[in-house]
Amino acid sequence: MAQIGFVGLGNMGLPMARNLIRAGHAVTGYDLNIAASDKFAAVGGVAATALDMACMGADVVITMLPARKEVREAYLARGGILASAPEGALLVDASSVDVETARAVAAAAQVNELSMVDAPVSGGVPAAEAGSLTFMVGGSDRTFERAKPILEAMGTTIFHAGGVGDGQAVKICNNMILGVSMIAVAEAFLLANKLGIDPQTLFDIASKASGQCWAMTSCCPVPGPVPSAPANYGYQAGLTAAMMLKDLKLAQEAAKVSGAKSPIGAAATALYALYVEQGSAQSDFSGIIQFLRGPEKAKDQGMPVKEAANN
Ligand code: NAD
Repeated sequence: MAQIGFVGLGNMGLPMARNLIRAGHAVTGYDLNIAASDKFAAVGGVAATALDMACMGADVVITMLPARKEVREAYLARGGILASAPEGALLVDASSVDVETARAVAAAAQVNELSMVDAPVSGGVPAAEAGSLTFMVGGSDRTFERAKPILEAMGTTIFHAGGVGDGQAVKICNNMILGVSMIAVAEAFLLANKLGIDPQTLFDIASKASGQCWAMTSCCPVPGPVPSAPANYGYQAGLTAAMMLKDLKLAQEAAKVSGAKSPIGAAATALYALYVEQGSAQSDFSGIIQFLRGPEKAKDQGMPVKEAANN
């Protein structure tokens, strides 16, 4: 069993760290937010009060942080992970960030003689809780084989996507599919409503027909058909709209740099930007259906309304 430092104990990090503890690893966790550290201590973890404490004696350091700024800072800053991790430690960044950040941090790790993989995840909070995440890993064959048994305590499907940064590249493409498909599912449920079709009827049929997708069958944006979906809990995240917007922006950035065409990805990015701007950054991303419904409905529900699309 390994000594693991876990940095970032939020919606995803906390259940992931708890599954490592359940698998018998000794986990020391660190989060800037004291409430998150307290929750971690309550599930049996050792809560560190500083980043370097979480790295002390670690065989493996895992990060699950919001975005590139936090990842660069946690690894590269003075007193950060690269400076604090013991020689030979394995570093795993499971956050969703841009490819360039993943490659820059891994290159800096190599200079410090530390091995690193990028290992972003799919499945959301339910899969993080259940230990059934999908990992998309970028790194050398050797480092992937080292990371795999640790990742298996948090996920059931561990893919080796390619070299360093390739896990993030796949993740960015995957989440563009997710963001776009959530809008398509939301629009379809709004249209069905206008056409007098019960949401459960649309769900029962479309989930067995060619409209089937994760956004509908695991995170249905209307209350009812999927009891565990955030729609049943006032769109409490889950994956926040702010995080989805971040991922869609990463995809647009990557499309621009690589010369790929992405008109629907661009439209989805613009819609999420409006939804976030309207005050819904911390709502689940499936809450975009409230925005798409339009201002009248949103006002009825007591939501702050700035601008909304027509349906
Ligand atoms: P979150 O905001 O709930 O958690 C992030 C945690 O990191 C917070 O508790 C925050 O206090 C902490 N933090 C920030 N800066 C820190 C620092 N410098 N040192 C220590 N702790 C710090 O976010 P989340 O939903 O858990 O997402 C984390 C990552 O996983 C993101 O990159 C996100 O895109 C990705 N992701 C999220 C989901 C999801 O459904 N929530 C699914 C797949 C991937």
